[in-house]
Amino acid sequence: MEVVSNLYDCKHCAGSGTCANGKDLESCLACAKRNELPFWRQRGQFGLMCGSCGGIGKAEPLTERMNKRIAPLLAIFLIIFLLAIVALAAFLNNKHFSELLAFGSAIIGSVSGYYFSSRHNRS
Ligand SMILES: [Zn+2]
Ligand SMILES: [Zn+2]
Repeated sequence: MEVVSNLYDCKHCAGSGTCANGKDLESCLACAKRNELPFWRQRGQFGLMCGSCGGIGKAEPLTERMNKRIAPLLAIFLIIFLLAIVALAAFLNNKHFSELLAFGSAIIGSVSGYYFSSRHNRS
């Protein structure tokens, strides 16, 4: 599975990936801080990596960034929810316990497999 995001040109650096928002096209102080420069070197720097986009010149729309953050949370909640159902069925000695266990473990396996593999591919 591929993770595709709609990128747009970073507003801060106009797609160049380097910051020129200070006076005389210097890099701005915010980006100097993001580059972890000591404070006495934060002024008068040119061509620093853009702190908004991390130097790639493209930025993700906010909604997509939120989706990527919310999806793993939903997956965690889903897993907890399924585990609770399976545990409850085991506790109540439900006659559908084996079906629930198979159903739950299949979903948990595919969800955790998906996140593990997508993280593995991205790094
Ligand atoms: Zn940028
Ligand atoms: Zn900047």
